[in-house]
Amino acid sequence: MKIAVNGGHTPTSPGAGMYLDEVACDRAIKDALVAELRARGHEVADCTADDWMAYPLELNTQVSRANASGAELGISIHLNAGGGTGTEVLYHPAGAGGWGQQVAQDVSAAVASRLGLPNRGAKQRSDLWWLNGTSMTAVLVEVCFVDHRADEAAYNAVGPAAIACAIADAVVGGSAGATPAPEPAPVPAVPDIRYRVRAGGVWLPEMVDRTDTGGSGDTYAGNGQPIEYLAMDFPGWYQVCTEKSGWLPKVYAYNPDDLENGCAGDGSPIKYVRCYYETQDPDSTGWLRIRYAVANVGCGFFAEMEDLTDLSGYGDDAAGNGGTISAFYAYLVRA
Ligand SMILES: [Zn+2]
Repeated sequence: MKIAVNGGHTPTSPGAGMYLDEVACDRAIKDALVAELRARGHEVADCTADDWMAYPLELNTQVSRANASGAELGISIHLNAGGGTGTEVLYHPAGAGGWGQQVAQDVSAAVASRLGLPNRGAKQRSDLWWLNGTSMTAVLVEVCFVDHRADEAAYNAVGPAAIACAIADAVVGGSAGATPAPEPAPVPAVPDIRYRVRAGGVWLPEMVDRTDTGGSGDTYAGNGQPIEYLAMDFPGWYQVCTEKSGWLPKVYAYNPDDLENGCAGDGSPIKYVRCYYETQDPDSTGWLRIRYAVANVGCGFFAEMEDLTDLSGYGDDAAGNGGTISAFYAYLVRA
């Protein structure tokens, strides 16, 4: 098969940048992909624009070089930005239900899997020069996000050659050729956190994330009665506001047997909870945050907090509304 490949943007018309530089990464992947496809016996036209070309000449040039090559398939390599995470592949609506959509789906799944990032899948776009102008079936690969730490870590761990291999696997299959495909560095799992609450004078069984080790099958700590103490095991701190004393000091320990220093509370009903996770080794785990939520007696859970941010956009920095809390849960996520 004849395939046209380009790296998006140029140094003169730069793409997105933050933790990763789009042009530097897309050129590295493009170079590896050209080599990989040739090594698997395919004819490849590198239709990347020249470094000096500014917008929109660079886009016109990619398209005209691809069209002049007579390729049956066009692949443009980009990196995404805007706050998401993972891989997506764009195709023209005219390719819906056909090869364009199939290639987009396959490449997105293959790259996301190799990176260990979310597969955002195939997406239709009708406003992109590359997809609108090319005369062959074409896709635009958004490998990962330049502005997300998890994507940066995955890109650096996996590397451009293995990403190119994943694209080649999805597009043409066959065995890996010139470019070695190293085993992807395993993305470490998000750690578990443990916590317990005391309600009605008894400590309830320990929770691990949203699993109740007491076998009750529920996904939160609480038995319907007001929570009097909270004990949590994670690097960072937690803090409660009680009916009797207001906000108590931050707690860094986890010891339900020590009501003074090993947990948060004073025996009266808890009204608000704050938690803050301190990532210990961001290079190996990525930045982590704690998600948690509370429910008042007889009520459902409020919106989740992430560290000190209310994910509902409410703007407060604690879980609760001043009512009496009877249920609590927490778990970790990557920032
Ligand atoms: Zn781009």
